[in-house]
Amino acid sequence: MSDSSAESVGTNSARSGADGPDLAGKRALVTGAASGIGAAVARRLAAVGAEVIAVDRSADAVEAVAAEIGAEARVVDLTDLDAAAELGDRVDIVVNNAGLQHVAPIHQFPTGTFSTMLRVMVEAPFRIVRAALPGMYTRGWGRVINISSVHGLRASPYKSAYVTAKHAIEGLSKTIALEGAGHGVTSNCVCPGFVRTPLVERQVAEQAELHRVPEGQVVEDVLLARTPIKRLVEPAEVAELAVWLCGPGTTSITGASFPMDGGWTAN
Ligand code: NAD
Repeated sequence: MSDSSAESVGTNSARSGADGPDLAGKRALVTGAASGIGAAVARRLAAVGAEVIAVDRSADAVEAVAAEIGAEARVVDLTDLDAAAELGDRVDIVVNNAGLQHVAPIHQFPTGTFSTMLRVMVEAPFRIVRAALPGMYTRGWGRVINISSVHGLRASPYKSAYVTAKHAIEGLSKTIALEGAGHGVTSNCVCPGFVRTPLVERQVAEQAELHRVPEGQVVEDVLLARTPIKRLVEPAEVAELAVWLCGPGTTSITGASFPMDGGWTAN
């Protein structure tokens, strides 16, 4: 990778009033862009000038986000791995974000759900990145951002598929980092604790039943039990970190994992 490609991203504090890297001319693919963290990342990437391709299986929702930010919407179910691979064509930034959760003890965990979760959160990212890397290598610049989780670094009971998938994406991310190192391609994981999104809101009822506590107590007593900072992370905060990883001065940041977990992993 040449020095010029290393600095091919500037800052754009003067542009549209948006602080952050200037990603004009970069094509950025964001999966799971219809909701929560993915929508926030897509919005932030568009705000700093990237050409965003917003991917989700929820057609109406992803089309609404795309229309709002001037992105291209692609309605794809990422369990279709061949369709996932097609998304990697001609992109400079890949944000592997789509994910789903299921909470159940291992001995009762539905086997099909386990397979689906690994497909969406591990195999689809592999197929997208596999397709995207040749173009990134040719252009001498690429950014792979994997929205992992604190569960990529720590386990929790009843989340076997999620913890397995997130640990796997951590390994994939490091391998991409090693292979991309000579080509201007970095790969990193962002590891949030609990973020205020529909994925977490859905867990509140499930966790209340499993832990036999009222739903009102689940956030503080169950979800944030190991988190010193007793607040949910906001999607925009995750987006800020993800987009920062695409900016100037990040050429040597690769193969890393960034907890944004209110101190959970400091324990
Ligand atoms: P969310 O449920 O709000 O959004 C997830 C999106 O992924 C949805 O729009 C959904 O339609 C899409 N999706 C799911 N399966 C798909 C499939 N097969 N094909 C295409 N799209 C699919 O969830 P979120 O909280 O924004 O989570 C986004 C990512 O952040 C996930 O990988 C999740 O594991 C991770 N994460 C979330 C939290 C949290 O507390 N919310 C914490 C750490 C990590």
